Amino acid sequence: MIGFQLTEEQNKLQEKARKFALDEVLPVSAQYDKTGKFPRGVIAKAHKAGLMNLGIPKEYGGPGHGSLDSVLVVEEMAAACAGMTTSIYVNDLGASPIIIGGSQAQKEKWLPFLTEKLRFVSFATSESGMGSDVAGIKSTCERDGDDYILNGSKFWITNGNFADLYVIFARLKGTKRHNGLCAFIVPQDTEGVSTGKPLKKLGHRASDTAAVVLRNARVPKDNLLGGEGMGFMLAMMTFVHTRPAIGAMATGLARSAMEYAINYAKQREAFEHKISSFQAIQQMIAEMYARIEAMRLLTWKAAWLVDQKAEQHLSNVISSCAKLVGAEDAMRIVTDALQIYGGKGYLEQYPIQKLFRDAKLYQIYEGTSQIQRYVISRYLFKQYKPIMERF
Ligand SMILES: Cc1cc2nc3c(=O)[nH]c(=O)nc-3n(C[C@H](O)[C@H](O)[C@H](O)COP(=O)(O)OP(=O)(O)OC[C@H]3O[C@@H](n4cnc5c(N)ncnc54)[C@H](O)[C@@H]3O)c2cc1C
Repeated sequence: MIGFQLTEEQNKLQEKARKFALDEVLPVSAQYDKTGKFPRGVIAKAHKAGLMNLGIPKEYGGPGHGSLDSVLVVEEMAAACAGMTTSIYVNDLGASPIIIGGSQAQKEKWLPFLTEKLRFVSFATSESGMGSDVAGIKSTCERDGDDYILNGSKFWITNGNFADLYVIFARLKGTKRHNGLCAFIVPQDTEGVSTGKPLKKLGHRASDTAAVVLRNARVPKDNLLGGEGMGFMLAMMTFVHTRPAIGAMATGLARSAMEYAINYAKQREAFEHKISSFQAIQQMIAEMYARIEAMRLLTWKAAWLVDQKAEQHLSNVISSCAKLVGAEDAMRIVTDALQIYGGKGYLEQYPIQKLFRDAKLYQIYEGTSQIQRYVISRYLFKQYKPIMERF
């Protein structure tokens, strides 16, 4: 039998993240959403509090949290601000290919680089011509003596303008699709690396998003992760580790949307009654709660499978389920929460519109909802075995 009891340490970690979110993130969340400025000060505090670089092992200066610990943290943070949480958590996305595929020497060099002081690492597969189709990357790499020369342009890169380091995915010149992809650790100050202006966005405005351009950027061969041709595999293995966290962020955001909706419904009157007395409103809120519970359980299961080092195909499909269900239900819940606010939900001065704008991104980044369904259906048609033998 399994239990859902968190350990004492996990309870403490969750409380610490909740307090940080309430004290440091929530009070400035609307302001950063409005100005679109990068919340470096808040992120520095998260770094100092040990709420960043969550999965970097202790021997490299990180907090060494497992995946389940990490989802507890990001649910709390995203309940206060999705954008800031994305910008804090993206260091885990960027560090994952190093943790998963890096050599001992690469880990010893680059993981402490990220933990010893506040530094940012971005993860870059996407280009303006492709996002879902990772095997369609067009940026190139070419061996030249002890170096590789990188050319191309990455797009939508979270924290792109603030990164000290990038993990860049590019293809060996002349190769096609999955086989030729390589992943490189690229320091920001490499000659030939530049970034575009911050991209203006619907939501997640506290998170920087930018293009990263590579013009004959020379990277030592020692910065190649996992060998030539390992890039596609590394990107996919990274997503198995990070998609549960997106499910958890969606859970945190949805939880806040529900709490705002309950609070508003208890105050707002229509037809001489509190709107909370209407069954239609009660049903909507009950549905929210049931779905949030389901989202969290799926997220925990996906994170637990990662921590158990479960078989890759199983971990992969459950991580996709957690991300899909989290993203879709968060969007539905925040839509209903806005509906409960009526016209006020549509006004800038109320918090729901920000949550509504922020939720949309969960259906898009780290694999759209359609891509999660693709991953799940591929598993069902190729690997899934019927539980009852009847065919
Ligand atoms: C704010 C933000 C931050 C981001 N941060 C990063 C980052 O840090 N690093 C990074 O590398 N990328 C990042 N991305 C990019 C993101 O991962 C991509 O936008 C996403 O994967 C979708 O790719 P696309 O936009 O090219 O859409 P496309 O791949 O062009 O898809 C367009 C539509 O077609 C659908 N579609 C595509 N293929 C299929 C299929 N086989 N079956 C069914 N439907 C399909 C998609 O679901 C989508 O609805 C970020 C994006 C945003 C908006």
